[in-house]
Amino acid sequence: MIAAPDRLTWEPQPEWTVRAELAGRAGIREPDRIAVTERNPHTGQPFTDHDDAIAAALEDMTIPALLCSLVHITGDMSWIRGELRPQTSALNDYQGSMSQDDMAEARRRALPAIAAYRDGGCVLPPPPSSEAVHEMMSFLACAPVPDDVVAMFAEDLHLDGADAGAITWGDEIPAHVRDDAHVVVIGCGESGLLAGIRLSQAGIPFTIVEKNAGPGGTWWDNRYPGARVDIGSHFYCYSFEPADHWTEYFSQHAELRTYFEHVMRKYGVEEHCQFETEVLSAAFDEASGRWAVTVRGPDGTTEVLDARAVISAVGALNQPKVPDIPGMEAFAGPSFHSARWDPAVDYRGKRFALIGAGATGFQIAPTIADDVEQLTVFQRTAQWVFPNANYHRAVPDGERWAMRHLPFYGRWFRFLTFYPGSGLTIEGSRIDPDYDDGGVAISEQNRIRREILAKLMADQLGDDEELRARVMPDYPATAKRMLQDNGSWLACLKKDNVELVRTAIDRIVEDGVVTEDGTFYPADVICYATGFRHNDYLWPMAITGRDETVLRDQWGDEPTAYLGITIPNFPNFFCLYGPGTNLAHGGSLIFQSECQVHYIMSALHELLTSDRRTLTPRADVHDDYSQRYQDEIAQMVWAHKSVKHSHYKNPDGKVFTLSPWPIPTYWRWTRDFEPDDYEWD
Ligand code: NAP
Repeated sequence: MIAAPDRLTWEPQPEWTVRAELAGRAGIREPDRIAVTERNPHTGQPFTDHDDAIAAALEDMTIPALLCSLVHITGDMSWIRGELRPQTSALNDYQGSMSQDDMAEARRRALPAIAAYRDGGCVLPPPPSSEAVHEMMSFLACAPVPDDVVAMFAEDLHLDGADAGAITWGDEIPAHVRDDAHVVVIGCGESGLLAGIRLSQAGIPFTIVEKNAGPGGTWWDNRYPGARVDIGSHFYCYSFEPADHWTEYFSQHAELRTYFEHVMRKYGVEEHCQFETEVLSAAFDEASGRWAVTVRGPDGTTEVLDARAVISAVGALNQPKVPDIPGMEAFAGPSFHSARWDPAVDYRGKRFALIGAGATGFQIAPTIADDVEQLTVFQRTAQWVFPNANYHRAVPDGERWAMRHLPFYGRWFRFLTFYPGSGLTIEGSRIDPDYDDGGVAISEQNRIRREILAKLMADQLGDDEELRARVMPDYPATAKRMLQDNGSWLACLKKDNVELVRTAIDRIVEDGVVTEDGTFYPADVICYATGFRHNDYLWPMAITGRDETVLRDQWGDEPTAYLGITIPNFPNFFCLYGPGTNLAHGGSLIFQSECQVHYIMSALHELLTSDRRTLTPRADVHDDYSQRYQDEIAQMVWAHKSVKHSHYKNPDGKVFTLSPWPIPTYWRWTRDFEPDDYEWD
């Protein structure tokens, strides 16, 4: 039996009432007990820095977040009620389009207030009221934030210092039930690790089976040069962990790996992990109501793990999709998929063929271009690119100082990066059935977006008409995954030793690539940056449920799950990042995982505090959800017929991968587990 960590108690502290009030106003049930920490970690570490050092740090700070921090420091709302305020809330514009003069004035006023806080021993006045917190959100959003959306952000920000998702009900489960409730989690990426943290808090025994040698999932696998996250790091991290350590606004793979290793150890999850162990199959046994999970360990021997429940946390972009191009086996040099980048291959000074230029190839090319003799990029479909000046930017020292020391600064920085990318509405992605623009736009709004993006790309290319024709997409903006960049991609394509080839590949030969027009491109190394088997969820594992139902047969090419989490005929089986939950319109997958893990833990709570054996989603509930899902997703830009190739689509061109729901809607649905949606035995 695993003891619940000591730090979890359920004494509400004063600030908790803020979150409870905001939830109540949105008609949302708050638990009557919460986890608290001894000290609110978001108040920042006390400091004694000299005025000059603080003044220097102020130069690096994000002023809208600073103004909110000053409300906490002084207890004075006038910081956000005056003329110094962000003018816009836009993705990756941290300063909210504030003028240089306004920012300078904010710094000038802030310095004595921060110094006074320091001189007073870094003691805070009483926390802002729920109304004040709501006002601060609307201040940063540059618009009134609705009550239900405020409740979602209040839960995410943990201004009370308590982890809103921490499990405090472990002792409600009788000890013998808990001891018998072993859960197998498949995968130790961000979602499996999170599941482990929550199971541990509940005192439920669990094993995480991970085929890699360490945690991090996609960040363990993807080590190609230039691999970095393109969701802001201060939001692409667990809500309950401080985020003052990131060295870049969009972190690279090694730093992300370190982060997941740190979190795994901090929460004591490592001892529950079986690394270098692969799940081969899982079968449900009706007689016992339990799962038998067959795994193969590092020495090749197999073992069967018994489980009351199984949580699949295998990720959706996990199994490399290696293309089937004639002659691949004839290539004499090194060749590998991008997710299996071979560090032993020295590509410097070589002729490098990069096949595929989606999110991955687009990061590899600019990173290696100066090191290779020749880089040939084979891109089947051109990509829309979205400007992001912060994409390769280091977090400056002053900003990191503020995150570490200024009360709630880091929290408000998280909010201002999350809010404009929070997918509050899906309407910009909806196809207007009355709009006909020959397939290059789905609506008037989408046409305007296309023009803006096309102009931004054209401006970077100058008068190079020929290259412009090769890079400009011929399908609606946002219909494939948008790529973010600070100009590195197009600058790379303009280099003398780089060539972008848009002609289809005919075959691979011993020493290069031949395109359909007969052109031969010599190559010493080939990297297949050709993506992943997105639609083939849980492949290649063999999952067998009730009445010998084989999951792959049930799904075919149309994988579905209720809320993307539970599947008819598969009792006590849960998916994280399952069908229909990938995000193309905002949010972060870690936030999405927090929603899903919360739901799964609620389901387990219901199961283990009753005398029932299993829960399975009702077929009618699942079917109704799936129908609503298809009705909705079919109207979205990602399903548009003009998109010929997309990992979002199945072989028939239908989408079963992406979420069509606004982020707050999904948050709400996963927040309250509804037992009536399930069959119990
Ligand atoms: P991808 O977006 O599916 O791109 C694969 C590339 O290979 C595309 O250019 C594709 O062309 C091409 N391709 C595939 N099969 C081919 C074939 N048989 N012949 C010729 N070309 C072929 O895969 P990815 O770039 O690895 O990205 C996958 C997902 O991973 C992304 O959507 C994103 O969710 C995630 N990702 C995120 C980041 C980040 O956060 N920064 C970085 C990398 C990946 P078509 O476009 O014509 O299909």
